[in-house]
Amino acid sequence: MAYVINDDCISCGACEAECPVSAISAGDDKYVIDADTCISCGACAGVCPVGAPNED
Ligand code: SF4
Ligand code: SF4
Repeated sequence: MAYVINDDCISCGACEAECPVSAISAGDDKYVIDADTCISCGACAGVCPVGAPNED
C-alpha cells in the first residue's frame, strides 16, 4: 500500500521535504508519489494544507 496525491494538490511543495524516503516529486500539474518507494508513514498527509495525499 502506498499514499497517492489526488487532484486537490495545489503544488505547494510542503510534503516533498517531509517524506523520509524521498518518494515525492513535482509532477506536471501536481506532486506525485512513487508507489514503490512510499512506506505509508503518513507524514505527507499530516503536512498537506488541502488533504491531497491519501492511502490508496
Ligand atoms: Fe513519503 Fe510517508 Fe508520504 Fe509515503 S506516506 S509519500 S513515505 S511521507
Ligand atoms: Fe500538494 Fe499537499 Fe504536497 Fe502541497 S503538501 S504539494 S498541496 S500534496
